[in-house]
Amino acid sequence: MIDLHALRLDDARALLEHAGQDGEREAGESAAAYLQRMIDGLCELSLRDPLTGLGNRRHFLATLERAIEVVARSGESILLLLLDIDHFKQINDTHGHLAGDQVLQAVAACLAHCVRPMDTVVRYGGEEFAMILPNCRPTCGRTVAERVRRAVESLSIAVTPLVTLKVTISIGGAYAPEWVRSTTDLWIERADMQLYRAKADGRNQAFLDLPHEISVSAEEKGLLFSHFAGDAAPTDEAADPAIQPRVNA
Ligand code: GH3
Ligand code: MG
Ligand code: MG
Repeated sequence: MIDLHALRLDDARALLEHAGQDGEREAGESAAAYLQRMIDGLCELSLRDPLTGLGNRRHFLATLERAIEVVARSGESILLLLLDIDHFKQINDTHGHLAGDQVLQAVAACLAHCVRPMDTVVRYGGEEFAMILPNCRPTCGRTVAERVRRAVESLSIAVTPLVTLKVTISIGGAYAPEWVRSTTDLWIERADMQLYRAKADGRNQAFLDLPHEISVSAEEKGLLFSHFAGDAAPTDEAADPAIQPRVNA
């Protein structure tokens, strides 16, 4: 397995020579173009989950980092959903690991169909998925989460010609606090807390942490003000009440 972060020019040249011998280059393709195509392919692979074809955790974290920047700059409402299949271990235990894999693939395809092209759906870990939904107004959050939950609930997954399985998911969601540069860890933690509530409350339901319910944490306040700490005088932007954090008592 090639570690892209550790890939050096010599390794790349060796790969190129090897590929050249095998005649893998397309007709008329220059060595540089071939190398670029190969690197693009490796980058793409490094961001994908092989079982489901969805983005993987690395892709998720990179997208979430960018989303935090967007929220901090523009105050756009971006919803993070964490989705966990209910009692998935029982499916493995009863029907075998292969059937479990088929369920993961079917749920992944269903989730990918539920969202808009601008949204991100990833496999976050074993039987856990995540969605990042930009431009999702808080008044729509519950509706979206509920739509996703119902879509999975209505699936019938044929794992053998004779066995069809039904599954449900629990969903926890959170909006990044607007106008504040939060962290991916804090955002995920908020959504995870809601997922925990959904599980504890009986599963097959969605719980959301809505923006007006969020209290800005001490860590986030520190992050906001450290942003201005190096400046001799506050900028106009810093003085603008429109970008001051909304801090709940
Ligand atoms: P809960 O409702 O509380 O979420 O219970 P659960 O059984 O879904 O959760 P638990 O964490 O107990 O079990 C998750 C299982 O997912 C255990 C693990 O073996 C299985 N799993 C993780 N990755 C894969 C995979 O790639 N394929 C298959 N078939 N199973 C997997
Ligand atoms: Mg889980
Ligand atoms: Mg589970």
